[in-house]
Amino acid sequence: MIKAVRGVRDILPSETPRWQRVEAAARRVFEAYGYREIRVPLFERTELFARGIGDETDIVKKEMYTFEDRGGDSLTLRPEATACVLRAYIEHGFQVEPKPVRLYTMGPMFRYERPQAGRYRQFHQANVEALGETHPALDAEVIAMLMDFFGALGLAGRLELRVNSIGDTGTRPVYVSRLVEYLGPHRSELCGECQARIDRNPLRILDCKTPGCQPVIEKAPSILDSLSPEATEHFDSVRRSLDAMGVEYKVAPRLVRGLDYYVRTTFEVLTTELGSQNAVAGGGRYDGLIAQLDGPADPGIGFAIGLERVVLLLGDEAHAAGPVALLIPLGEAALQRLLPAARRARQGGVPVELGYGIRKLPRELERANRLGAEWAVIAGDNELARGEAVIREMSTGAQRHVPLDTLAEELLRLGGARTEPRYT
Ligand code: ATP
Ligand code: MG
Repeated sequence: MIKAVRGVRDILPSETPRWQRVEAAARRVFEAYGYREIRVPLFERTELFARGIGDETDIVKKEMYTFEDRGGDSLTLRPEATACVLRAYIEHGFQVEPKPVRLYTMGPMFRYERPQAGRYRQFHQANVEALGETHPALDAEVIAMLMDFFGALGLAGRLELRVNSIGDTGTRPVYVSRLVEYLGPHRSELCGECQARIDRNPLRILDCKTPGCQPVIEKAPSILDSLSPEATEHFDSVRRSLDAMGVEYKVAPRLVRGLDYYVRTTFEVLTTELGSQNAVAGGGRYDGLIAQLDGPADPGIGFAIGLERVVLLLGDEAHAAGPVALLIPLGEAALQRLLPAARRARQGGVPVELGYGIRKLPRELERANRLGAEWAVIAGDNELARGEAVIREMSTGAQRHVPLDTLAEELLRLGGARTEPRYT
């Protein structure tokens, strides 16, 4: 038996209603804020990610699925979407459009990680990018929209929003030297990787998940004390706008995020319910990145939501609705009368299921129950002779007759009269 590749999973029909609900909420909320969908390829030139994510990041160093194609080009399955969306922005000349250019995309990402609950090698994100505007109100709007997405799913109360500023190019060197000075005496308490990071990329230490490093990280100096006046004013303004909109957050001075390209505002949405896979979404401002990818000097801000983790949080609450009715012909002649009625109902968007006249009535009624059908429509030779069918309400067993000629209309009426949405 050939099984799915490790860390890669099927999303089964029992789960897809939850996925559809999450995706629909994302589209609804993002589009209300003026975002338009863009769909970018699943693979790109390796160089795009090396330059767009940063050579020193875990993603580029350890997690990419990189391969050479038959033409000898080095390609990589996308580990995140921002670099791809920015590549498209530059390639298609989006910078001439009214700013900010607001884009979102959804789909699979690929990272070679150790698979566990909430961590896979193919996983899905919803990504948002707002390009070409530096105003801090945009940062606040983007963050508010992210929280509205969780609110639309009824999850807001189970999540914590953390925001920080990691300053601008003027801030970084000042803070990094303070951090290195602080870390020096603690070198031996850090994991091997962080010891190497002190010299190569000390900021990344704040993002280390190794438990042994946490006591050192917790006492590290706050980057907020090193912010340039401009970066301080930007962050204060973001906070004022968040407060004005009633968005609740915690300031987290050690939140630096795993990617090299962030400046100023960074944020993360956490849950306590998924063990160490506690980050549900993260994002930040990346003002130099478009230029770094040979594009215009346009700023940007965005976030990524980990959809598997959102779906996990939703639990089993969403179920696929069964068909409105199971049509049960008892024999070939009845089948030929019910087939067109089923087709008309389906054309009208009413889901019905049809037996093929080869099983006995008790078996078909049992099937109606297992499918979760609300109604059974039964037609045997006696009913055909009278030009009728029997409609049975599955929950009560109550039965009545309808003319076969108007059965399709009756099914459309029953389908339209459903008070339950398809996905609850
Ligand atoms: P983590 O710290 O959990 O590794 P990250 O910082 O690498 O997350 P980002 O690159 O910011 O994650 O991606 C945004 C979101 O995508 C994360 O908050 C998480 O919800 C989700 N995510 C990241 N990697 C995976 C994965 N391997 N499997 C499932 N979801 C993931
Ligand atoms: Mg990661």
